[in-house]
Amino acid sequence: MIEKITLIGGGLVGSLLSLVLARKGYSVDVYESREDMRKVNISAGRSINLALANRGIKPLQALGLMNEINEMLIPMKGRMVHPEGEPANFQPYGQTTNDVIYSISRGQLNSFLMTKAEATGKVKFFFEHRVSHIDFEKMTFTANVAGTEKSINFNRIIGTDGANSPVRQAILSQESKQDSEAVLDHSYKELTIAPDENGQHKLDANALHIWPRGEFMLIALPNLDGSFTVTLFMPNHGFTSFDSVNTKEEIHHFFDAHFTSIKPLLDDLIGSYQNNPTGRLATIKCSPWHYKDKALIVGDSAHAVVPFHGQGMNCGFEDCNAIAELFPAADNAKDSDWQALFGEVEQVRKINSDAIADMALENYIEMRDSVRQHEFLLQKQFAFKIQQWFPKRFTPRYAMVMFEHRPYSEAFELGKKHKQLLSELSDTYSCPTQLNGDIVKELLDKYQL
Ligand SMILES: Cc1cc2nc3c(=O)[nH]c(=O)nc-3n(C[C@H](O)[C@H](O)[C@H](O)COP(=O)(O)OP(=O)(O)OC[C@H]3O[C@@H](n4cnc5c(N)ncnc54)[C@H](O)[C@@H]3O)c2cc1C
Repeated sequence: MIEKITLIGGGLVGSLLSLVLARKGYSVDVYESREDMRKVNISAGRSINLALANRGIKPLQALGLMNEINEMLIPMKGRMVHPEGEPANFQPYGQTTNDVIYSISRGQLNSFLMTKAEATGKVKFFFEHRVSHIDFEKMTFTANVAGTEKSINFNRIIGTDGANSPVRQAILSQESKQDSEAVLDHSYKELTIAPDENGQHKLDANALHIWPRGEFMLIALPNLDGSFTVTLFMPNHGFTSFDSVNTKEEIHHFFDAHFTSIKPLLDDLIGSYQNNPTGRLATIKCSPWHYKDKALIVGDSAHAVVPFHGQGMNCGFEDCNAIAELFPAADNAKDSDWQALFGEVEQVRKINSDAIADMALENYIEMRDSVRQHEFLLQKQFAFKIQQWFPKRFTPRYAMVMFEHRPYSEAFELGKKHKQLLSELSDTYSCPTQLNGDIVKELLDKYQL
């Protein structure tokens, strides 16, 4: 008998994990509530594209998939910041040609991973199966299939069922738990910039565009077809909010007042704004991530984060990488202590997913506000200078998160020291040319960097 693992959720993490497990020799059943996205259009307005970075690339590379995935990528070398009433300015993410992140279509990547998983002959997807209840005593779960409740047996289950995970709810209802879900008081809405008449991008395609406006912002990521997916992030309530911008007149007034330059580029602004859903954003931190040797959660089901560091999927893919390293090959599965293995996944990953959750919240303020502040830009210049002089002792936090594989928790802790060091410099100096190696070395020593 081949060892079988059941996954609930065939999103990005579930599809990748099914492939990882199949390559280890497991037979994998994936139960997914939606239709097969390869056969239907995914609904508009739901995070059409996302940023893939080094952490997410690592397991894809290990599986030998990057040659094909490269075709789906658009490199973004930095932020193109569009302040109101001023020319745009480009802020590179890093200092080397490798310091880039990549825009990729969520649907294309998800579909590709599903097809690759099925091609192993070990993975079977069951679409339109909405899982609602898991019974750990009977080792069954209930799935709603076309209106009928079906009871399905399992041996071991992994929840990759996203932020509203029923598997998480089942695990947390069994154990003494630590559980927090912080819903952000800001939401998002997706809009589009269509390609020009030649099918080309209307803005620089190799940048992540930001229109920072303090309490709210627009961002745009390029798509391969020449379009951009634009996302508005804004408070739910208050003077300028999703509550207060709804009618045709309010939408026109809002975009005329704050997004003059981009407004003419937006495709069917009123229709998209009024018809696309307003998506909520939340941070989920919980423990335990597993129940005995029976169930585990990973990806957003264990640790949803707000999207402002572009790391939710990347973090979930790092979970898959950890599982690839920790789980035994299927042939040795019977002799393994699965409760301990599941516990190890949580031990290795939770500290890091908690750290990226906090950094992602901090990055919202950076994106919507700090990027237009003089002090932020000055500190960024100082940071690049320090990195040039002392590359072994200092990598800016953004680069540690986006371009390295150093644990998020380490980047988070180092980042706290960096913040103090850079504040000390910007309190004293007004230009990177005023710095020298001795001044910087003294500060690196002081902060034990
Ligand atoms: C606006 C926005 C922008 C983002 N940008 C980025 C980015 O640039 N970079 C990045 O790394 N991350 C980004 N993210 C985060 C990223 O989308 C998530 O971290 C990622 O999708 C998590 O993958 P997952 O498979 O764990 O969960 P999901 O993608 O949510 O997939 C869960 C799957 O489980 C299925 N499911 C749910 N409930 C059930 C059920 N009861 N029964 C059966 N199936 C079920 C769902 O249909 C879905 O297919 C962004 C998120 C948002 C909202």
